[in-house]
Amino acid sequence: TKDNGRNGYTFFAPSMNVSAHKQLKVLTDLRRAIERNELVLHYQPKFAAPDYHLAGVEALLRWQHPELGLLSPASFIPLAERSGLIIALGEWVLEEACRQMRAWQDEGRAVPSVAVNLSPLQFSSPTLVGMVRDVLVRHRLEASCLTLEITETTAMRDAETSLDILDQLTLMGVHIAIDDFGTGYSSLLYLKRLPATELKIDRAFIRELESNPEDAAIVASIVALGKTLNLRVVAEGVETAGQREHLRRLGCDVYQGYLLGRPVEAGQLARTPLDAMPL
Ligand code: C2E
Ligand code: CA
Ligand code: CA
Ligand code: CA
Repeated sequence: TKDNGRNGYTFFAPSMNVSAHKQLKVLTDLRRAIERNELVLHYQPKFAAPDYHLAGVEALLRWQHPELGLLSPASFIPLAERSGLIIALGEWVLEEACRQMRAWQDEGRAVPSVAVNLSPLQFSSPTLVGMVRDVLVRHRLEASCLTLEITETTAMRDAETSLDILDQLTLMGVHIAIDDFGTGYSSLLYLKRLPATELKIDRAFIRELESNPEDAAIVASIVALGKTLNLRVVAEGVETAGQREHLRRLGCDVYQGYLLGRPVEAGQLARTPLDAMPL
């Protein structure tokens, strides 16, 4: 049930039929992971056109498990979500990302914003807005340097409540990104009302952008839609120069992917894309 994939972390997929016993062990271990300091955030840069400057970073959770190695979030986030443990985990992530942001600012490093992923349960938690306000105050951070990423599906679940929470966060000055866009079912009417600042095109549409005309057409319309709604359009999973060029021609605003920079530890963050590119 274990293999070290190309990301260098151990990966459990539900299809691998991980035994219930192992899942229970993972859950028990996860409860202790926070206090044992086994969780770590990696940061992936996002670069903005036209000059590919660092627009911000996305915080991505990893778990350094004492026996199983470095675990991908896909192998424990769903379990954390089902068990409710995601609330404590999510608080740790927000706290750590803001602590790191404060450290970057104190070092004089220009990281304009940090993005944190919110799970559906976290997003619907009544303590979310207060917690966000509190963590920003404690680390003396401008709300505008925090972006919260919620998936299209999460935002759609209870449309009216979501709008209310998003309004409160936006009023505070926090930025909102709609993640994995194109994989959910949001209506254009709803999207129009969402106080979001960023639209992230799911990697699934970027992968075959160059060879699949349907994907190319979908991406073109998402970029156009984003522009119409005045949203910053971010492409995730950009792996090739060809994909980047294609996206640039479409007018995509921000690029995230292995081509430009993989998720790395805070100290390893590059200021410019790894891949030197003609402007
Ligand atoms: P996501 O929010 O869509 O994050 C992007 C994922 O794509 C990350 O996987 C990232 O490492 C990966 N990625 C980035 N560029 C490329 C690329 O060019 N090619 C490929 N093949 N992959 C790329 P990761 O870090 O394994 O995270 C997976 C998912 O786990 C995330 O998807 C997000 O939904 C969730 N997640 C990660 N951290 C957190 C967290 O702190 N809280 C919550 N609730 N969810 C998290
Ligand atoms: Ca995300
Ligand atoms: Ca995403
Ligand atoms: Ca995705």
